[in-house]
Amino acid sequence: MKGLIFLLNRLIYALLIFIMLLAIPNLSLSFLESKMNVNNASTEAEDKIYDNSKNISKKNEELLKKSSIEEPELIKVYNTKTKEIMVIDFEEYIKGVVASEMPAEFSSEALKAQAVSARTYLLYRLKKYPNGHPDHPGAPVCTDIHCQAWHSRDDLIALHDEGWYEQYWGKIESAVTSTKGQILTYDNKIIEPLFHSTSGGRTENSEDVFSAPVPYLRSVESPYEDEAPRMHGSIKLNVDDFISKIKSVYGDLNISRNNLGEKIILGEVSEGGKIKTIYIDDREVSGREIRSLFNLNSTNFNFIQSGNEIEIVTTGYGHGVGMSQWGAEGMADEGYDYTEILKHYYTGIEIVSMK
Ligand SMILES: [Zn+2]
Repeated sequence: MKGLIFLLNRLIYALLIFIMLLAIPNLSLSFLESKMNVNNASTEAEDKIYDNSKNISKKNEELLKKSSIEEPELIKVYNTKTKEIMVIDFEEYIKGVVASEMPAEFSSEALKAQAVSARTYLLYRLKKYPNGHPDHPGAPVCTDIHCQAWHSRDDLIALHDEGWYEQYWGKIESAVTSTKGQILTYDNKIIEPLFHSTSGGRTENSEDVFSAPVPYLRSVESPYEDEAPRMHGSIKLNVDDFISKIKSVYGDLNISRNNLGEKIILGEVSEGGKIKTIYIDDREVSGREIRSLFNLNSTNFNFIQSGNEIEIVTTGYGHGVGMSQWGAEGMADEGYDYTEILKHYYTGIEIVSMK
């Protein structure tokens, strides 16, 4: 009889776990729909980055407003390799994203900024795609950079040199656990915390890169990126190859190795210093098209012709919108904490704590 009761208990337990897993999308939806009860932020000076007095940042408890958003325990993630939907512990997922999106050698404060950004990104996706992203129905995020990169611990160990896990996992884990439940909001709504590798000195207004102006994705200075490996990039091509590549896409333009200097004219430049448009033989071409055509690091580029060679030099790496990861690392090196880093790159946001 005792054995039967034990078996029944086990069955009920297994059934409860099963029901919990089935209920995940509903949980995600309902906790996000619940009205967030967030108090107004203490207004930090926007240009704090240039304030030389490096105030010791306030402790989390004082700084963070509590929101009524509840943190999900488990989330669904589409694994692009196995083509399966995984159910992962929420904070464990964030650890895998931080370790995949930022070098573990980075300062703790930069890793914490990435952790809060990764957590926020997931919640934003959950809210936008409660039933899964159209590209991977059933899961709001995937393991690819299509959403944000994620690797399991085993994959991370395999991807890195021996000793990486022992040396760095504790640091990753602590960046996530020390910011547990913290997310970014603007006007009491969860933000879409876009980020990129290296801005090249100044980030971009969202509308200069994507379609819509977003109030918290404004162009700001990013002065501490000198250590970024792809701050300056360069590719060299034969002028004839350069010309034929352009003609292959834009038709038979009147350009030759002798007239490129007159035929390529700068159009519009964004506030962040990136090229929005250029004119090639009076044809308007976007900076993004040129970036894609020549596989450039960014749209902050310049052509330098010498004889039969053309060099395309670039500054920065990535789309330039939101947080610059190397800029975050630079700020951390300068003594700024993760809250200052996030508030610098995401204009007017608040850092709030989930239940
Ligand atoms: Zn995806």
